[in-house]
Amino acid sequence: MKYECDVVRDLMPLYIDDVLSENSKVFVKDHIDSCEACRKYYEKLSSEVKIPVSRESRKKDLKPMEYLKASLSRKIIKRVLAVVLVVGFFVGSFAFANLYKIPVDPSAVEFYEKDKFLYMKYDGKGDLLYSAGESWDNRKVWTIYFWQTPFEKYITPLYKDEKYKTDFMPLYNVKKVYDNDGNVLWEKKDK
Ligand SMILES: [Zn+2]
Repeated sequence: MKYECDVVRDLMPLYIDDVLSENSKVFVKDHIDSCEACRKYYEKLSSEVKIPVSRESRKKDLKPMEYLKASLSRKIIKRVLAVVLVVGFFVGSFAFANLYKIPVDPSAVEFYEKDKFLYMKYDGKGDLLYSAGESWDNRKVWTIYFWQTPFEKYITPLYKDEKYKTDFMPLYNVKKVYDNDGNVLWEKKDK
């Protein structure tokens, strides 16, 4: 009996590891079932040693490797996303930072006076930005500049078909308004 116990206990780690041959497994199991001392030894050993008891749980233990692979590909995805973001940022800043001066159809711009202010309305194609500058020699003469960002020039027409309408900021006490090509857009009529 003592000899068999020694053999069983020597085999115990392999039994717990589930790497024994079928016959040895049966031998160890039969012994554990009939020998209380070895059963207690087995329980102690299998609870102490944190190694998987069965092949199934061994496979579960392999999953961290798969997880590592998954997290590696996640890292790659993150890197790709970062590149996309950076490229997108530059394309985006180009789309909004570069401005095209654009000619504006004078018939699309409508002027009307109210009190001493000149108001303007634009009703035409494409979104646009505008800026206005007083000419240096005569403070009552204004030049209106029309701009479009690349986005407004190339992208907006793809999805926006309707006309663009805007009211411009009123200008005070104006005599003449030029567009950015030097054409007179509006002139005060002498009474
Ligand atoms: Zn025993």
